[in-house]
Amino acid sequence: MGAPFLTQLGVFSSRYLEELECPAISPWRSPRPAVDYLGCIVHWTADRDIERVLKWFHRERYQAKASAHFVVDRGRIPRHDSLAVGLPAIEALPCTVVSCVPIEEAAWHATAANPWSVGIEVVNAGKLKNGLGHTRFGMLPPPRETEVQIPERSWHYSQAYHSYTFDQVMTVGRLLTEVDKEIPMRRSRVLGHSNVQKNKQDPGPDFPINALRSLVFPTEKYSSLKPHTVHEALLATLGYDLLDVSESVRIFQKMMSIDADGIVGLETRSAILARFRELFY
Ligand SMILES: [Zn+2]
Repeated sequence: MGAPFLTQLGVFSSRYLEELECPAISPWRSPRPAVDYLGCIVHWTADRDIERVLKWFHRERYQAKASAHFVVDRGRIPRHDSLAVGLPAIEALPCTVVSCVPIEEAAWHATAANPWSVGIEVVNAGKLKNGLGHTRFGMLPPPRETEVQIPERSWHYSQAYHSYTFDQVMTVGRLLTEVDKEIPMRRSRVLGHSNVQKNKQDPGPDFPINALRSLVFPTEKYSSLKPHTVHEALLATLGYDLLDVSESVRIFQKMMSIDADGIVGLETRSAILARFRELFY
């Protein structure tokens, strides 16, 4: 297979970014403090166009002050194969992926979680209204899906979300496997942005974070992943891992500025319920 996956991805990414007249590494990054293990935070881009996202992260003049380690497109861009010449691991990917910041450094994607996490931006419009996605640039039609009159959507309660593609989920899984080979990752820290920052809602209910975690980091204690209590069921629905409930509770408590003791007392219980109602109704 030649060079390691992440090395091949770096070559692919710099070829693509050069075409976009962007520097190979985003300016928005910091040294990463020593960590025992990494986690990952999954985001939606709130934008359908990977090239616009990449320019936003890489061009200093936009002053985005935001970045991610990886951006995963909805499928393969038309130039994928020609950019991946000589890079067999990248030729074989179901989605185009671009690396923006080396995993040895911290990207700027989730404030307090930046030091211990890898940021993965998945191209997805997020919440849908009138068939269009809200983006930071306003309401925009899908640039490369213009033949699709009504974009694919997934309904959760009364809200429609832009669906993630199966290939995107598999590609995120592949990235986690490869990152884990370089820097060990911890299963309970594979989370969505809304799990660590209370003003965020991404990646939303359409991203199967629990399935992804079990796919990449399988466990022999699978039976313990069944929720035993209502608050465990709500935590799982919110995207937290049930293998280590007290760690998940601590992550949740930290986000909500509750004393992080890992125990579900009255205050934590009502905060879990409030968060569930906020995100799902
Ligand atoms: Zn986010």
